[in-house]
Amino acid sequence: MKAVRLHAYNQSPVVEEVAEPTISGPFDVIVRIGGAGLCRTDLHIIEGQWVEKSGVTLPYTLGHENAGWVHAVGSAVSTVAVGDTVIVHPLITCGFCRACRAGNDMHCTSSAFPGISIDGGMATFLKTTARAVVKLDSSLAPKDIAALADAGLTAYHAVKKAIPLLYPGTKAVVIGAGGLGHIGVQCLKALTPAEVIVVDKSAEALELARGWGADHTVRADGSEVARVREITEGQGAEVILDFVGEGGALESGIAMLRRAGYYYVIGYGGRLVVPTIDIISTEINFIGNLVGTYNDLVELMALTAQGKVRLHTVVYPLEAALDAIHDLESGRLHGRGILVPEGA
Ligand SMILES: [Zn+2]
Ligand SMILES: [Zn+2]
Repeated sequence: MKAVRLHAYNQSPVVEEVAEPTISGPFDVIVRIGGAGLCRTDLHIIEGQWVEKSGVTLPYTLGHENAGWVHAVGSAVSTVAVGDTVIVHPLITCGFCRACRAGNDMHCTSSAFPGISIDGGMATFLKTTARAVVKLDSSLAPKDIAALADAGLTAYHAVKKAIPLLYPGTKAVVIGAGGLGHIGVQCLKALTPAEVIVVDKSAEALELARGWGADHTVRADGSEVARVREITEGQGAEVILDFVGEGGALESGIAMLRRAGYYYVIGYGGRLVVPTIDIISTEINFIGNLVGTYNDLVELMALTAQGKVRLHTVVYPLEAALDAIHDLESGRLHGRGILVPEGA
């Protein structure tokens, strides 16, 4: 089968022929990929940012945002059958550890992360387990919803945590209206009464953000902090959802935060440098966010089925993965890039 493989850090991945995965454990599920989302994390992987955290050995197949159809199942799998349409939770989890029992899938103590620590879904087939697959209505096209598996799930998880803080009259700032941010805006509008302020460098992205329900849009051109403070009557916003996390977004984002506000770090790559006296004197809070739980994914798929969340996608054939990566790197990709294998 075809797969997008990383052979060396700081070099482009290669689209090449590899062996198909096979069932080896009773709970294994092999998914025929209908769509694999391209994520800024893939760029960070290529840059080597994940070398120590992932422990992966090269070469391996990228792709952690996957959806498709069940192709084969292990002997103990009873929750899905061959042919079912599924979206794949990004993590393979054990089901037995304390985190798994509490539903905190991302903190499983013996997990694997296809696309990050083992072979992922930018390929014809992906191997995962029954615990990771969410069965969907057969009318859903995997390429339309694949990126909800990670980009969407991450945005949903952060917004869900912020719900108690976003009562009527509050304001939330979304920094970055890209692949994650545009889902964040829709989740905020669907789940909270907060006024949503979207900050982005691109006028085109802001125009799209208005279509997803942004109440205010602010161009990140150096005047964004002053603009957000103006919209929030000089106080700053109760919640900042930072989908960028690098390139100056953190510094300006923190300056938009209200006293006792909450700063959700979702995008990453930069460094958070805050004098501790600023943290204690204003009681500001910083919250990390790592993808989301299996149940978050089920809830997000319910919102999608209700038409409250829609992914803005740009489809590329799997063979054109390098074009998609280049478009994402150069800022030309608005919405989520989706790789679709031939015949899917
Ligand atoms: Zn991702
Ligand atoms: Zn576990």
